[in-house]
Amino acid sequence: MTAKIFQEKCIGCTWCVEVCPHQIIIISKENNKAEIINAKFCIECGACALQCPVEAIRSHPIGCGCIGGVLRKKINKILRKENPKSCCN
Ligand code: SF4
Ligand code: SF4
Repeated sequence: MTAKIFQEKCIGCTWCVEVCPHQIIIISKENNKAEIINAKFCIECGACALQCPVEAIRSHPIGCGCIGGVLRKKINKILRKENPKSCCN
């Protein structure tokens, strides 16, 4: 299984793109919505789903959840640092 994006809900914020440890989410130039490319590399970490502000992604985390990466991103946002990294990077 891989994460699933419900594009009708997506607002194109790019947060899922930033946290995906395998960088397999892009924002489509056609409709400005997130989509998963190379889905076979999805590890179901759940980071994208945790990060999405509008619950447009469904994932069933089976691994680390990359929660460290999500928390780090939020902390970096508070500290105004750029280019936060996921724990899997
Ligand atoms: S579940 Fe993890 S690996 Fe899969 S698309 Fe989301 S962030 Fe990327
Ligand atoms: S985090 Fe959610 S709303 Fe933002 S780009 Fe990804 S799927 Fe779309």
